[in-house]
Amino acid sequence: MPKSLGSTDWHDDIPFSTEYGDYYYSKADGLAESRYVYLKHNNLPERFSTTQGENNTPLTIVETGFGTGLNFLATWEAWDKLPGPKRQLYYLSVEKHPLSAQNIARSLSRWPELKPYQQALLEVYPDTNEGFHIIKFAGGRLTLALLFGDINSELSKYSFAADCWYLDGFSPSKNPDMWSDTLFSLMSQRSVSDATFATFTTAKTIRDSLSAQGFSLIKPKGYGKKRDMLCGHLNTSPQPEMHRFYARSTPGWSVSSFQTETNPAAAETDFDALIIGGGIAGICTAEALSSSGLNVAIIEQNDAIPSGASAQRQLAMYAKLPTINNKERKFITHSLMFSQAYFRRLQSQYPAHTFWNACGVLQIAWNEKELQRQQQLMLNNPPPDSLVRLIDSDEASTHSGLQLTTGGLWYPHSGWLNPNAFCEALSTSKRFKTYTHAKVHQARWSDTGNHWQITTDNMDLSAQSLIICNANEAKHIAGIESYFPTKPLRGQVTSVKSPQLPKSRCIVCGEGYLNPAQDDVHQFGATYDLNSEDTRLSASDHSLNLASIQKWLPAWADKEQLHEAIIGGFCGLRCTTPDYFPIVGPVPVLAEMRRKFSRLRVDASSCADEFGEFYPNLYVNIGHGSKGMVTAAFAAELITSLIRKTPLPLSDELKSMVDPARFIIRHLKQKKL
Ligand code: SAM
Repeated sequence: MPKSLGSTDWHDDIPFSTEYGDYYYSKADGLAESRYVYLKHNNLPERFSTTQGENNTPLTIVETGFGTGLNFLATWEAWDKLPGPKRQLYYLSVEKHPLSAQNIARSLSRWPELKPYQQALLEVYPDTNEGFHIIKFAGGRLTLALLFGDINSELSKYSFAADCWYLDGFSPSKNPDMWSDTLFSLMSQRSVSDATFATFTTAKTIRDSLSAQGFSLIKPKGYGKKRDMLCGHLNTSPQPEMHRFYARSTPGWSVSSFQTETNPAAAETDFDALIIGGGIAGICTAEALSSSGLNVAIIEQNDAIPSGASAQRQLAMYAKLPTINNKERKFITHSLMFSQAYFRRLQSQYPAHTFWNACGVLQIAWNEKELQRQQQLMLNNPPPDSLVRLIDSDEASTHSGLQLTTGGLWYPHSGWLNPNAFCEALSTSKRFKTYTHAKVHQARWSDTGNHWQITTDNMDLSAQSLIICNANEAKHIAGIESYFPTKPLRGQVTSVKSPQLPKSRCIVCGEGYLNPAQDDVHQFGATYDLNSEDTRLSASDHSLNLASIQKWLPAWADKEQLHEAIIGGFCGLRCTTPDYFPIVGPVPVLAEMRRKFSRLRVDASSCADEFGEFYPNLYVNIGHGSKGMVTAAFAAELITSLIRKTPLPLSDELKSMVDPARFIIRHLKQKKL
């Protein structure tokens, strides 16, 4: 992880790194040099045009050193100005010492033509110096992924295949550590077979290293007074494409041996992708896939979307971060930050509808144990301030509008979603179709047609990819024999209507949660019941909710007052998994996995060289429990990246935590399978 922000001096108003003793960009004209070296010599913007890209897939650019963002903005501008249909763009940039937003603004101020792009970037530029940040522009058609960390230790943890490399990063004489063999061998492993690169340097060590990794080299004239520069492309090697995509640390069991380097001819189908289930996971998946340019439909057995446990008035974005900075905390942090930005962005895309309420989430330190947990979380390696910070009772009272005697953790950018209004907004764009009253009975892969065929009560539909998002029902689709060890977990919330009750302005959490009041209606809960699948409201569960809120928020209202004001509530079945993390990714074929990995039952360290067996083009996005608002949108991004072959939004280690094959492997080792 980066230790510091980049330290900058200004020489004639040009940013100069005091760390490396070098300029961030050319003293002559940084923008012109960027366009000349990186764009022109990667054959851009020509390659943005759709006729160039097979299947119209997004184009992935990987850059070493984001610096001032000049190369990124020059690329964005060229992409934006290209007339006609174009490929989507995915720009992954690694930066060890991120510059502050202020320094970026100053660095770029000399180019008015970049102003609109620069402003859009700075509005969402992460105010933290670590992590993997995914930022979407142009309605989701342009993605910037900023990986803050050392390229040599961090980039290899991510799965991707680059079409273009921008090798920047100060001159090799000033920054020899970055231009390492680790980087060059990563370039050859993690590139499409004809990937290109460009760089300003022609140092012999760089030429030798690139050529040793299979890159052809050309030395065109350099920019301005510079004698030369370097560019070239990767010569096709016999490695299968999927091995070029997945990080080396990806466990074999989570990579399919079925996917080959050749993409079978695209079949004529009704849709590019069909999504089974219209809850929050299905809706986010439909939104993400359709934004990525695919023709998508949701198939829902109920009469409307949102369905199932997502059909509530208010879906709260509530996350509990582990006190130590382990992989679980990293996953939740990534997912939460992604979701906050996701709903913020979509809300600004659909201003005529109000569905995202970033009112903030307050976790009060309502007892000694919770107080200690919160203090511990902030002690070592605390999460970034912009995500969560400790506040005292005065501030907690101000944010919530309630008289609170304790402080707690404050998540300023979290909030709640009105899922109905969200669906209405999305339906205005008609980006995806929805079939309701359609229960999927069977799914079948056609080997000859290379597509999925699904059968519902009243119709058949076909698609190249199928994504299962129907929570607890996922295991009941005939034709798919996989392993989803999910359990329904009944949850009931209680609604009371009273103009007298103090109105909460944010989500307040203790043992349960209280949502912000709407039209004098206050909603709180929720119960957890593994023993019933009855979704009718129960009086005894209202009593449980009342007793609970009396315990953790006693001063808000007395029990009698609440009891008399009950007007109803909501009950749904959450879908939970044995480790409380969702199930997201390609769907394993149970029988084949059992056959290949059965030795794990006797030797847990065996089968290291085996690859997994997965259904072709079949994905799952389920098991979000009560954390759908934190994980569903991030999971949808992962599914979209897998289908569109763009860089996966999380490291290999974190991806394994949600991998659908993990339970087969784990349960074989535990002899449960
Ligand atoms: N491409 C940038 C632009 O458009 O403004 C300019 C990049 S600047 C010349 C080099 C950048 O590489 C610096 O921001 C520096 O912090 C970063 N860098 C240097 N070594 C690095 C490493 N090992 N890993 C990641 N970033 C590194």
